[in-house]
Amino acid sequence: MDPLSALSAIYDFYGQFVANLPLACGPGCATCCSVNVTVTELEIEFLRQHPLSGDRRVLEQVENVRNRPHFIPEFTTNQLAEFCLTRREPPAETGTHAPGACPLLNSEGLCMVYTHRPFSCRAMLSRTRCRTKLAAEIAPFIYTVNLTIYQLIEHLDRQGRSGNMLDMLCGDREQTTGNRTIPGFPVAPDEQVKHQRFLDKLAAFPAGNAQLVEYFPKDLFRNC
Ligand code: SF4
Repeated sequence: MDPLSALSAIYDFYGQFVANLPLACGPGCATCCSVNVTVTELEIEFLRQHPLSGDRRVLEQVENVRNRPHFIPEFTTNQLAEFCLTRREPPAETGTHAPGACPLLNSEGLCMVYTHRPFSCRAMLSRTRCRTKLAAEIAPFIYTVNLTIYQLIEHLDRQGRSGNMLDMLCGDREQTTGNRTIPGFPVAPDEQVKHQRFLDKLAAFPAGNAQLVEYFPKDLFRNC
């Protein structure tokens, strides 16, 4: 079982799931492409399969920007989910989101590694133009679904770490945090039926020679 196949399948599944949503996002709109993108090591491995990710000039750009302030997450998604599921207040992050564009954006405002971009980039699906409010307006159920996908990806990479994409691309593990297994999915009571239908579809989605369900603990997809 290859976690990269499962990650690729999750990206494909999510792409199909959101394909017909009424979104304001489009080519050249890059307000969310900042220096604050959080990723897992598995996603960096996937991103490195893109030919341009190894380009010397691209790597230099990443290295230059990494020395500027950027958000460094202290907690992983599954750590925060565990707080919610045990009815404890999640600790607040002390890191701040710094200004600055992602160095993987080209001069036309397009992502140079678009097909291999991490989930944080795929998840920023706004119903309104972000440029106006400088924040994405994400539909409540998509927000829930995004959280689930973050959790699944972290679980796939449970031996790995999470951190800022710039640090990860530069191989700096010092400012990263160890990933966790999924403690369950925190889902609001009024979304549980819809969420279960989403999980059922995701579980049956093909991933290499298997289905996504085979990459996760048996009971996980009946866990909320
Ligand atoms: S990796 Fe691509 S999509 Fe993600 S923030 Fe950078 S330029 Fe934007």
